[in-house]
Amino acid sequence: MGKTGAFKSISRQNETTHAVSERITHYKEFTIPLEESAIKKQGARCMECGIPFCHSGCPLGNLIPDFNDMVYKGEWQKASELLHSTNNFPEFTGRLCPAPCEKSCVLGINNDPVAIENIEKNIVERAFANGWIQPKPPTQRTGKTIAVIGSGPAGLAAAQQLNRAGHTVTVFERDDELGGLLRYGIPNFKLEKEIIDRRIEVLVKEGIIFKTNVNVGVNYDIQNLSYFDAIVLCGGATKRRSLPIKGIDAQGIHQAMDFLTQQTKKVFQKEITEEFISAKDKNVIVIGGGDTGSDCIGTSNRQGAKSVTNFEIMPKPPVGRSVQTPWPYWPLQLKTSTSHEEGCDRNWLISTKEFITDNEGKLTALKTVEVSWEIQPNKRPQLIEKEGSEKIWACELVLLALGFTGPETTLSEQLGVNLDARGNYKATKYQTNVPHVFTAGDMRRGQSLIVWAISEGREAAKSVDNYLMHNSYLQSKGKGDIPAA
Ligand SMILES: Cc1cc2nc3c(=O)[nH]c(=O)nc-3n(C[C@H](O)[C@H](O)[C@H](O)COP(=O)(O)OP(=O)(O)OC[C@H]3O[C@@H](n4cnc5c(N)ncnc54)[C@H](O)[C@@H]3O)c2cc1C
Repeated sequence: MGKTGAFKSISRQNETTHAVSERITHYKEFTIPLEESAIKKQGARCMECGIPFCHSGCPLGNLIPDFNDMVYKGEWQKASELLHSTNNFPEFTGRLCPAPCEKSCVLGINNDPVAIENIEKNIVERAFANGWIQPKPPTQRTGKTIAVIGSGPAGLAAAQQLNRAGHTVTVFERDDELGGLLRYGIPNFKLEKEIIDRRIEVLVKEGIIFKTNVNVGVNYDIQNLSYFDAIVLCGGATKRRSLPIKGIDAQGIHQAMDFLTQQTKKVFQKEITEEFISAKDKNVIVIGGGDTGSDCIGTSNRQGAKSVTNFEIMPKPPVGRSVQTPWPYWPLQLKTSTSHEEGCDRNWLISTKEFITDNEGKLTALKTVEVSWEIQPNKRPQLIEKEGSEKIWACELVLLALGFTGPETTLSEQLGVNLDARGNYKATKYQTNVPHVFTAGDMRRGQSLIVWAISEGREAAKSVDNYLMHNSYLQSKGKGDIPAA
């Protein structure tokens, strides 16, 4: 694999980015691709490690050493075919995946891991540019009909796999556009929406039927689903977590998803019916230190915030791997995103106690305390507030990026689908207690990642195909039922 010994002589090279001062003036992607020769060299760094842990690090089981080798040899089309055999949408994961494959790369034990994610992006972009990604409609139809509810990465992957098996697939989406969180959650500067449209175009030509503005169980009677032989629920985990403390109803406190959705709509000049949430000239505080919080920071800076501050209730993670998460485990490690680099004051071990308003109910400040976590064996970690550590922070806009508590229950209630102990849709091999109803993605596993959503969509499709045809030739990673997160 790769060039023998190249991992010793060639260093990892990452994509560079446009300067912060330039990129915060727009909402386009801002990475600068490497030259082809540089990418080939990165492929060459993949060493013959014997057991490629990256295979199992990747939820899709991507055949990473093989495509690295093809890239090194310049066999781009072959690499694209191999990559697409396990991943329906490498253009999403190649941009947005936190790359568990790289965290388990053997070279990463004592060196920088192979730049797998960027190699993946280069393979798929080259494939689109050269016209190698063409619609592949099935040669025969089975006569079976399937409804997929939700067009996020799980729904799209399930739909493409089931269509490949010859079934007639209709995808229902309640938003006006397809893509789930890829469309209205993740900002355009991380994923330009034309990238989604380009892939949808292929899916449409393959024969998948898409229906937008259809909220199943709300403006579309659930009885209509009786037309379908099987149903795959991929509605995501969209119930947002709030912060039920004094002053939460103040003007100026918003959910991160409302803020992010509005900005993407504005980029595409779509109608925004509610009052626009603007960070311009405001002191913004983003509560929550995850991906969503990071996206709010990048968006606030682009909107022209006066200052951006970020709170996280957990301790600051170590800069490198900690002893608790040795290789090849997913490391608990400090993540500095490109949005963080664009400017924000990051604070850890901070808990928000109260929102402060003026006489008209407008947010003017918030009050915090410093906290620590007490860990005792066999007990849940206890949050301890530090006495006398109260602090007032002036702010005019607060964005709540506190994650999601689970899926909405409209569909489970109307279809009679059971939930698990965490409130996610319960399934065995992606099949719910209602035999013809299946589920995948965040709706089944709780808030997760794009790569897991694609993986779950593929596995669920195989389960549906087996259920309908008593056999399935669809490719699968073969892990069976992956436990919920
Ligand atoms: C702001 C933000 C940033 C993120 N960034 C990253 C990242 O950088 N990398 C990463 O890997 N992951 C990221 N994630 C997580 C990732 O986006 C999700 O894990 C993934 O999109 C889940 O896919 P899904 O298909 O299960 O659900 P979703 O993407 O949530 O799609 C579900 C779809 O179902 C639709 N729907 C729900 N109910 C109905 C109904 N009754 N009728 C019709 N349609 C319905 C919804 O409108 C939605 O479009 C991010 C999440 C957020 C919120």
